[in-house]
Amino acid sequence: AMTGKEHLQPLPVSRNDEIGKLINSFNTLLTTINEQKNQLESIAYYDALTHLPNRHLVIQTLQDKIEKAEAFTVLLLDLDEFKTINDHFGHPIGDCLLVAVAQKLQQHLTPYDTLSRLSGDEFVIILSNAAHNQKILESLLEAFATPFALEGGIELFISASIGVSSFPQANTLEADQLLRQADQAMYQAKLGGKNRYHFFDVQHDYSMRIHHESIENIRKALKENELILHYQPKVNMRTGQLLGVEALIRWQHPQKGCLPPSAFLPFIEEHRLGIEVGTWVIYTALAQIEAWKKMGLDIHISVNISAKQLQDTSFVQTLKVALAHFPSIDPSFLELEILETSALQDLPSISHLMHACHDLGVSFALDDFGTGYSSLTYLKALPCKVLKIDKSFVRDMLEDPDDLSILEGVIGLATAFRRHVIAEGVEDIEHGKILIQLGCECAQGYAIARPMPPQELPQWLDTWHPPLIWQQTLLAPREDYPLIFASVEHRAWVVNMKQYLSDTHSAIPIIDKNECRFGKWIENDGIKRYTFEQLKPIDALHVEIHELGYELIRLKEEGDYQKITRLLEKLHTLRDTLLDKLEALMNR
Ligand code: C2E
Ligand code: CA
Ligand code: CA
Repeated sequence: AMTGKEHLQPLPVSRNDEIGKLINSFNTLLTTINEQKNQLESIAYYDALTHLPNRHLVIQTLQDKIEKAEAFTVLLLDLDEFKTINDHFGHPIGDCLLVAVAQKLQQHLTPYDTLSRLSGDEFVIILSNAAHNQKILESLLEAFATPFALEGGIELFISASIGVSSFPQANTLEADQLLRQADQAMYQAKLGGKNRYHFFDVQHDYSMRIHHESIENIRKALKENELILHYQPKVNMRTGQLLGVEALIRWQHPQKGCLPPSAFLPFIEEHRLGIEVGTWVIYTALAQIEAWKKMGLDIHISVNISAKQLQDTSFVQTLKVALAHFPSIDPSFLELEILETSALQDLPSISHLMHACHDLGVSFALDDFGTGYSSLTYLKALPCKVLKIDKSFVRDMLEDPDDLSILEGVIGLATAFRRHVIAEGVEDIEHGKILIQLGCECAQGYAIARPMPPQELPQWLDTWHPPLIWQQTLLAPREDYPLIFASVEHRAWVVNMKQYLSDTHSAIPIIDKNECRFGKWIENDGIKRYTFEQLKPIDALHVEIHELGYELIRLKEEGDYQKITRLLEKLHTLRDTLLDKLEALMNR
């Protein structure tokens, strides 16, 4: 569910003073963010006919939910006899029908469910609340009981068959497996006579039992101290200063080893036990703060709070009692991370609750920021000091100019609202470097440290230093941002080329050297800002790279993969040289 775009209203402009200037640049920022979001949406992730998310976005949404350990149900809905209608009335009418179906389906869903169009007459629905599945399934079939009124007074009856699968399951699985299961179930629904739903079999047979078993096992794990917390440092990448650590839960399973949260949290998400585990996390983190304090270490800990925990009416009381249990600890050492999406679910009451916790002295971070389309109004209303930029943007920032735009926008937004930003999922030194250049010095990620057991932290603190490159990187002046984008655009082109060479579905990258985004940069921004002498070697390299591109495309047509492998190495070398030259322009 994507809402909130409409809240990005420009502010009134007043000139002649500092504030006026500030507001001005802020307005520009808002417009950019708005444009960037729109651009991103329309490019690759939305279906042109219905404007619903497409397959690409569905897979990504599912994968994100799996990673974040959220429980959900996925429905694959296929229209019955759509082909007959298409053949009989023609494609334009078929298209109208698809749009009408999309609209009607949407009416039966909540803003937290996602409707998307997979292909043709196939829709995917992700239900976020497992409790009412049966009711929603019935109501979706109901929706097809009345005819669809199309333009020109045409009324059409059509029914649908729905396949159902859900996450979590006993075995780990990926987004496309889930879709395949739902597809199989949908096929069963067709075989069973259409106009009905069918649960994926394994799911149906086992899910109830496994679910029950799991809850009991997790309860036992909690009792027998098999649940533990690992801690991942959050640092200032330039100075190396430790800002705090994030507590991440693990299950030290006697047979299966150390299990990540996605292997067990979803099972208890909808259950009272989820809240008990959440409370345990708070106590354990507080005890850890105390233990480190006794060793002379002042370390802030942030803990993840689930949506269900926040909705629990006794949350503030629980927190109060927990803090009272550790009187020697300054409550400001505890930070609560709440997901942007769960904060948005019920803003007035969440805001109230956050203020109540704030009064106890604890602080807040908005987690996975950027994924929930928060509006500025919301951001202003919530007492959260920190925004954590979701790792999905960081992951692709080097190779996806759109993600880089969003990142830039979020950093700007945070600065404008005087919130701190932390980037999650910094896996490479290069990520960190560009983040610093864009004004985000604080980060968490494998490039700094993996989550670790508490006893390992003191030694890590003693020995870790930020990489030299980070120490030497500075915030880039605004005028240099186009250079950063240009380098990412070039990387994206190389990635595109490699994809094209390695599979049959990818589109051919733009091969005309003046038409690719980097070429356009040279012709516009580049020429405006730099001298001919500065640009000449860069342009020459760029020409050479495109010539290599032509050659690679030809080799693919000939199927000469040995030579392709060799030339790809050359492509990488040329790319790196070009990126170095851009870098030199920046540090000049
Ligand atoms: P999160 O809050 O977004 O936590 C960050 C996750 O990213 C962690 O996964 C962490 O290990 C992982 N991570 C850190 N650095 C990197 C990196 O450089 N690259 C990549 N790819 N990943 C990185 P983990 O520990 O598996 O936790 C997954 C999610 O489970 C967390 O996402 C959080 O939403 C939830 N979770 C973890 N512990 C708790 C808990 O105690 N309570 C609740 N309610 N949720 C928790
Ligand atoms: Ca978190
Ligand atoms: Ca996250």
